[in-house]
Amino acid sequence: MANPDVIVIGAGIVGVCSALCLQREGLRVTIITRDGPGEACSFGNSGGIGGGVSVAPLSLPGIVGKAPKMLLDPKHPLSVRWNYFPAMIPWFVRFARSSAPARVEQISDARASLFAMGTESFAPLLEAAGATDMVRNTGSLNVYESRESMVLAGVGREYARRRGVVFEEIDGDEARRLNPILGPKVDCAVFFPDHAQTINPGRLVQVLAQRFTADGGELISDQVTGFSFAADGAPSVRTRGGEYGAAQVVIAAGVWSKALARMLGTRVSLEAQRGYHVMLPKPGVEGRLMTTLADRNLVISPMEHGLRITGIAEFAHPDAAPNYAHADRILAQAAEMVPGLKTEGATRWVGPRPSTPDSLPVIGRAPGYERVVFAFGHGQNGLQMGAITGKLVADLVAERPPSVDLAPFRPDRF
Ligand SMILES: Cc1cc2nc3c(=O)[nH]c(=O)nc-3n(C[C@H](O)[C@H](O)[C@H](O)COP(=O)(O)OP(=O)(O)OC[C@H]3O[C@@H](n4cnc5c(N)ncnc54)[C@H](O)[C@@H]3O)c2cc1C
Repeated sequence: MANPDVIVIGAGIVGVCSALCLQREGLRVTIITRDGPGEACSFGNSGGIGGGVSVAPLSLPGIVGKAPKMLLDPKHPLSVRWNYFPAMIPWFVRFARSSAPARVEQISDARASLFAMGTESFAPLLEAAGATDMVRNTGSLNVYESRESMVLAGVGREYARRRGVVFEEIDGDEARRLNPILGPKVDCAVFFPDHAQTINPGRLVQVLAQRFTADGGELISDQVTGFSFAADGAPSVRTRGGEYGAAQVVIAAGVWSKALARMLGTRVSLEAQRGYHVMLPKPGVEGRLMTTLADRNLVISPMEHGLRITGIAEFAHPDAAPNYAHADRILAQAAEMVPGLKTEGATRWVGPRPSTPDSLPVIGRAPGYERVVFAFGHGQNGLQMGAITGKLVADLVAERPPSVDLAPFRPDRF
């Protein structure tokens, strides 16, 4: 059989959206993936899409002074595996640099440029896959246990407000009216009306991947172990099971892209910021919309298969064994805010957010390799940014001017 036009490595939300966008250009596309579609980090997220709620990066000004206290507190949602800490020092140094006020403004502009096109880029993919019912435009809530904490968190919201994100401050009773599962500890809240949510992120990727294969795309289960290049620059992808040639290759392998980029001589600053979830199939309450318990850094999301509680930012090797004590803690914390929460049949999960120190993804041509495109590093927002990234990948492969300025996402910026 003739080689495909493009091989996409990875079948998370970013790889599958990229493959679909390339396919819509009329190209023959093959996905090679180690895990099944939507089975890695894209499986277990909170499902938040659009709205630009989190325009500001994680590296807000002043965070560096607070970080040591957070990291040394074993109960804080930010944690690090200390045996991995030395390997992460360069990442933390870049993170600190990214917190300079002027840099935070630049980063927020770049993130907003992707968020602005996130929803409109998703729509045609959802429609083609018959999956529009998997995304609900319910808005989302950030709830606070005191007015002081809502005011403090206003610093981050200000970056969003100045970039056109709409939100409304409401009192605790209004928050409970919007999401009746919330208990009396909620004092006040911020409502983001333009936020949407998928009811099952893992299944959403599977449904999109089914559209891809139904339209003639090939999906190969295998692990990529290396690359080789013909004299004319044509790439081949080596896997455990064989070797596959293509006119172009897209690396969209989430946090594992770091090792693949390194094989091509590019060092990217990319680490696993691992999040945990607890899935409650019979929670005994019915959540109406995605709700962030801001003082506890937890998100509660109603899903088609129960209530999902997500949280924790654990810096560790992406494949390190899970520490499910984190998951147990987020469940206990959520139970304090949601009276009557039932835990029967609960399942726990961990997944690696592919995180760059500047909270910006890596999107662009691989330095020195004209026929390889990088598309990874979406951190906390891969679902929101997946479809627009796919569109930008298609722009690059088709050699069109990109729909968004790609300079902030350059692979060689580290
Ligand atoms: C708790 C939690 C909550 C979150 N909430 C949200 C949210 O509300 N909204 C949002 O937008 N984002 C959220 N995120 C972030 C989002 O889930 C990620 O940014 C996104 O899933 C990353 O997608 P990806 O396609 O880059 O990577 P992944 O989904 O990890 O996919 C990587 C793919 O690459 C494949 N792969 C890896 N190495 C190889 C190899 N060598 N050869 C072949 N294949 C390989 C894997 O098998 C997999 O298919 C959350 C994350 C977590 C953990």
